[in-house]
Amino acid sequence: MPARKPRKSNGRANGHDGPPLFRIGRSRTGLGLFATEPIRKGTFIVEYLGPLLTNQQCDEIPDNRYLFEVNARWTIDGRSRSNVARYINHSCRGNADPVIRDRRIRIKAIKNIEAGAEINYDYGKDHFNAYIKPHGCRCDKCREKRRKERAEARAASARRVKRAERKAQAEGSRSPR
Ligand SMILES: [Zn+2]
Repeated sequence: MPARKPRKSNGRANGHDGPPLFRIGRSRTGLGLFATEPIRKGTFIVEYLGPLLTNQQCDEIPDNRYLFEVNARWTIDGRSRSNVARYINHSCRGNADPVIRDRRIRIKAIKNIEAGAEINYDYGKDHFNAYIKPHGCRCDKCREKRRKERAEARAASARRVKRAERKAQAEGSRSPR
């Protein structure tokens, strides 16, 4: 099997020499990856590591949600817990993005990320439909959207009540005493 040895990641995959840029912590959906210091837009945060499998080999192993296709022929199986990047959760409006080049996946900041903020990227449509949509996306963007929808539904029902009250009043004033 043309597997590649997983490289050790210490959070310095971007080549800077400071302490790791992130830690694993509790997030809304379980575990997540959080910035431990401000991360500038454009910084490579961590590499998504794991054995390189052909897509055909992937069809033969039990499905796992950490399979990350790098091109039409190759996929990285990132299920190992030593692959710190697997802790990065999905967001429909992420602050990072995977950059795939030369059969390697590196996660890059696409916004300035504040210390303490969770690091997220968009997993893409296929993964979203298979794993996230069935139980509802819990990213900030989708939560905000649902909050707005609930507020609109409440406002609409309040308007209906008001209309009914006005109608009742109008009918009341018309009826003879
Ligand atoms: Zn979402």
